[in-house]
Amino acid sequence: MQKGKINVTSENIFPIIKKFLYSDHEIFLRELVSNAVDATQKLKTLSSKGEFKGELGDLTIRIKLDKEAKTLTVSDAGIGMTTEEIDKYINQIAFSSAEEFLEKYKTDAHAIIGHFGLGFYSAFMVSERVEIRTKSYKDEAQAVRWECDGSPEYQVEDIEKEQRGTDIILHIDEESTDFLEDSRIEELLKKYCKFLPVEIGFGQEKEWKDEKYVETGKDKIINNPTPAWTKKPADLKDEDYKAFYHEMYPTTFEDPLFNIHLNVDYPFNLTGILYFPKIKNNLEIQKNKIQLYSNQVFVTDHVDGIVPDFLMLLHGVLDSPDIPLNVSRSYLQSDQNVKKISAHITKKVADRLHEIFKEDRTKFEEKWDDLKLFVEYGSLTDEKFYEKAAKFFLFKNTDGKYFTLDEYETLVKENQTDKHKNIIYLYTDKTEERYSFIEAAKSKGYDVLIMDDQLAPHFINHLEQKLTGKRFVRVDSDVVEKMIEKEDGFESKLSKDDEDNLLPVFRSQVPSDSTYFVQFEPMADTANPVIVTQNEFMRRMKDMSALGGGMAGYYGQMPDSYNLVVNANHALVQKIKDDVLKNAGEELKKFDAEITSVKKDQEALEALKKDKKEEEIPQEEMDKAEELDKNLREIEKKKEAILAEYGKNNKLVKQMIDLALLANNMLKGEALTKFVKRSVELIEE
Ligand code: ADP
Repeated sequence: MQKGKINVTSENIFPIIKKFLYSDHEIFLRELVSNAVDATQKLKTLSSKGEFKGELGDLTIRIKLDKEAKTLTVSDAGIGMTTEEIDKYINQIAFSSAEEFLEKYKTDAHAIIGHFGLGFYSAFMVSERVEIRTKSYKDEAQAVRWECDGSPEYQVEDIEKEQRGTDIILHIDEESTDFLEDSRIEELLKKYCKFLPVEIGFGQEKEWKDEKYVETGKDKIINNPTPAWTKKPADLKDEDYKAFYHEMYPTTFEDPLFNIHLNVDYPFNLTGILYFPKIKNNLEIQKNKIQLYSNQVFVTDHVDGIVPDFLMLLHGVLDSPDIPLNVSRSYLQSDQNVKKISAHITKKVADRLHEIFKEDRTKFEEKWDDLKLFVEYGSLTDEKFYEKAAKFFLFKNTDGKYFTLDEYETLVKENQTDKHKNIIYLYTDKTEERYSFIEAAKSKGYDVLIMDDQLAPHFINHLEQKLTGKRFVRVDSDVVEKMIEKEDGFESKLSKDDEDNLLPVFRSQVPSDSTYFVQFEPMADTANPVIVTQNEFMRRMKDMSALGGGMAGYYGQMPDSYNLVVNANHALVQKIKDDVLKNAGEELKKFDAEITSVKKDQEALEALKKDKKEEEIPQEEMDKAEELDKNLREIEKKKEAILAEYGKNNKLVKQMIDLALLANNMLKGEALTKFVKRSVELIEE
């Protein structure tokens, strides 16, 4: 037996490795199985080149647990190692990288934490002793056993071993006994080795025989050595892509919408399949589904910061030998190759969507509702993506029809251009609740878009910046007559005096929970008598602040405010106007006479002042003017009080306002009950 001392300057590196890599202990299995895969692939290559002439035989890599002996063994039938190779690769190289590791640790602790690729010696993270039993593929090779307990000392001896290849035997230490559990090992193999290119057996297939499960003697293979992304797109059908999707996400029930098969070899190597899942209105929960691989070895599924945020909504795999395997996440995030890869993917994703749109518009439209949020998110966060997306982004209107940005402009241009030459895009966030507004807009021949998702307020802003001469207006933000301002409005049937009289009447009955501004508009006499609208700008600011973003605090705290728009031309409003005059006419006349008289006095005073400079006006005249102002305000106040009193007792006014609130789904609780009661009374009258 030969004994030796490993050339490591530090007395014992393993306690340090153990300490600093505590959370990543489990990766030892990935490292050992990867080495076994490499050894197997190398043998296959030698065989194909004719340099190895023997039988390849069964190349399955096997993982075995022996609970009693407390060992975990990884066996392969790969190239194996000669004594010289053990000395070179294990004693010198593997341990020299251990040394390098220590060197790095000294200067940059950060670079080490999360550094998980430690190669062969990561075995010592979980073992008190590691044995290698190996026999090279070379003719007449002598099998060798190597053993080391983690101290720099190792032993090497010749042994009898029939099979070509290598067994790595870990004598699992006290703290790591969970790695002797089948379930734990199976979990790790599924996580790291699911798509490694050589079959990996763990345990045996079982079958139901004579009332119990019995082992069949056949290996239970835990991996799929030829996952879909390693195949040629031409060899895969739609079903194959779907099947692979479900293989990757066994707990996801729904099929993906589309897939993209990536196959790049310049300027970097990248393969992979990305899937578009159904997103609906849920941006958060679907993230971190993309898995990164390096030559079929699992690297990570935490891709945040590695791929752009919006792409994280996609599912699937990316595999690139250029994705460094043995580095920390922060390193990955700043890696130039990784950056190039993500820019490339963004472009591919946009191109693919455009392609599907062009190839099969019907199919694209069918899936658009589930895709829209993704495209909006991408457009908002990536300028280049938006430039491409502008060609396939679809508007959907309340009739369920889809239009590209260009098509929609053509559709509404003629009818929805206002007098300032802006094209007004009308939209709604809800179809049921805004029914009366949508109908009103349609009756004018206008088209209404549905913009109902989580990102809609942001996306609308974005589009307004991009599409010049277009404005978005929600259907309930004004009465239909004013939503798109044209030259030819309606004549009002109310005079200025009528409006002055009616203002306190309607004001007396607006709900007190929010701010309501009463205003009069001449509309069609067939339109509703009263309509409640909400200013586009204010509402949008509030919506956006609810989603977070600039000005959030300021607008978020503003109370809701609405416009109570009274249709000046509606018969019921005319009726109220007449009724006011009939009931309070005498009193109003008295006030009006007083007002006229005060105003006359004011005019006379004005005439006196006309040619005088400010400092020439006598004190007496100034006092008089002030008194007249005060008088006028008092008379007006009294007049308003009378009108408000009238309004408060007028069921019809209340009913009209309540109907407007009801149309907006804003009449609730006690107010609603009172409304119903009042309706019955009004019918009985
Ligand atoms: P790396 O795999 O990054 O080269 P490792 O420390 O994991 O580093 O392994 C060092 C070397 O030991 C490998 O390059 C390989 O030559 C040899 N080796 C390790 N495991 C095996 C194996 N199962 N069969 C044959 N050679 C192996």
